Amino acid sequence: MELLIMVLAFLLNIPIGLVSMRKKSLSFPGGVLGAAIVGVITFLAHPYIWMTLLTFFITSTAIGKYKGSEKAVAMEYAEKGGERDFFQVMANGGVATAASVIILINFGIYNVGVTEIWVVIAVTSIAASAADTWATEVGTTTTNDPIWIFPPWNNVPKGTSGGVTFKGFMGTAMGAAVIGALYFFLTFSTLALYIVLGGILGSLIDTLLGASIQSVYYCETCKKQTEKKYHKCGTESKHIRGWRIMDNDVVNLLSGIIASSIIYWIIG
Ligand SMILES: [Zn+2]
Repeated sequence: MELLIMVLAFLLNIPIGLVSMRKKSLSFPGGVLGAAIVGVITFLAHPYIWMTLLTFFITSTAIGKYKGSEKAVAMEYAEKGGERDFFQVMANGGVATAASVIILINFGIYNVGVTEIWVVIAVTSIAASAADTWATEVGTTTTNDPIWIFPPWNNVPKGTSGGVTFKGFMGTAMGAAVIGALYFFLTFSTLALYIVLGGILGSLIDTLLGASIQSVYYCETCKKQTEKKYHKCGTESKHIRGWRIMDNDVVNLLSGIIASSIIYWIIG
């Protein structure tokens, strides 16, 4: 059985990597390498973890391809979309991979119960990534400007980290629910509710961090705020707020860790 799982872990991940590369949803070699590490380790720990991760990846890529005109504006601001590089893959799959390593050390290959806390933690972190991705993808289709999550709730440009919309919250709930529903369908465990809760929590924490410590830059050439150190025009942008180390990937990873820790604390 272990051998079969090991063979499958490699065989199933290869075509996914190739398709992702062709569809330009993963960068080469960084994104593909990251996905291979995450894909193989989670599969060896338990294929259910891998399946939720794959579902996150497929659904978020699919809704990412949908672009309304409002959304195009927002995505340009956020400078998101396109190929995921190594760090983006790790920002979304890092917690699930770490939890899978813990599972492999404690239980071995494909030998863990599906309601074990580390399986729930792994899936919760994926739900948080799905919630956050869906929040951005769905939220940016709104015609209303987002409001800043902190008082006095001023309007901010679409795609701003820390900005919230009603549609965005619906996206958050949907993203977390898709992963929670899949877990429930696979396990018939009510722990799925904690996964949905953890997913929504993760997205909320992501927004709070985005509004507080995430680094924001300003491009003097284009007179635009940006989350990138180097703006897409090529100019080195000026740091205006937040902690320099807290780029979008670090914030994603951190909110996954915090949300998973809270769920660990609640269940454990
Ligand atoms: Zn610029």
